[in-house]
Amino acid sequence: MSDPVSIEKALSAATDKLRGISEAARLEAELLLARAIDMPRSFLFAHPEDELDEDALQRLDETVVRRLGGEPMAYITGSKEFWSMQLAVSPATLVPRPETELLVDIALRDIPRKADWQILDLGTGSGAIALAIARERALCSVTAIDISADALAVARENANRNTIGNIEFLEGDWTVPVTGHEFRVIVSNPPYVCAGDKALDALHAEPLSALAAGEDGLEAITILARDCPSIIEDNGVLLLEHGAEQKESVAELLMSYGWKRIQCYDDYSGNPRVTSAHHYETI
Ligand code: GLN
Repeated sequence: MSDPVSIEKALSAATDKLRGISEAARLEAELLLARAIDMPRSFLFAHPEDELDEDALQRLDETVVRRLGGEPMAYITGSKEFWSMQLAVSPATLVPRPETELLVDIALRDIPRKADWQILDLGTGSGAIALAIARERALCSVTAIDISADALAVARENANRNTIGNIEFLEGDWTVPVTGHEFRVIVSNPPYVCAGDKALDALHAEPLSALAAGEDGLEAITILARDCPSIIEDNGVLLLEHGAEQKESVAELLMSYGWKRIQCYDDYSGNPRVTSAHHYETI
């Protein structure tokens, strides 16, 4: 039998291990231990001297090892907060990023409160953007598309969990499932990282298809700029998330496909992150 280990002792040991890979090592250790003993985090602060049994220690250890192997916390805990919703995530979906809330924010500025518009989210993943918009604009009908059936299962679960009904999910390649339909607003956080980018190493647990988009990272955005004009209403708006270095190339691409009033917005870290563009039918 090994010596008894208290909550506090287990927490400091796990924190030390996580320090090398995380700036929030103590918080992560707390979340992992709380999960290992199936108690809220507050329990740890109230009972630092409580001893942990072998099973709990083993469960903690397993998750610390996964974290040290580069798995995001959200995959280990199974959920991530986005736009004040708790969303399920799985390795089939990208973990929603805080900067993507900017895309939601800008979309909501364009959609009046009482609007009953058709809204489209392309490459919805966990459904984060589509669900946030659907929740904030209850009279709108949101369509969310993804090519991954596994991702759509997660997105549907998120709609149920958050009791959001004004949304439908379709499986398919970008705009293909909605050929012949028209939307007033189209949003997307497509893959936009350059295929050889070293940043991908740190993101190896997440689906590469949701992150990388060819040599220049613009493959998916090119498809959207090219294909969205045929499924957007006159005066409709397209909102795209993109990389911090892609502001100019995204604007050029959009211009080359006839988009107008192109405008880029910085995220909360000051990086160009979202571009909006309008579509007008030519007479
Ligand atoms: N912003 C993400 C990252 O670099 C990439 C998301 C995306 O490609 N859509 O971590």
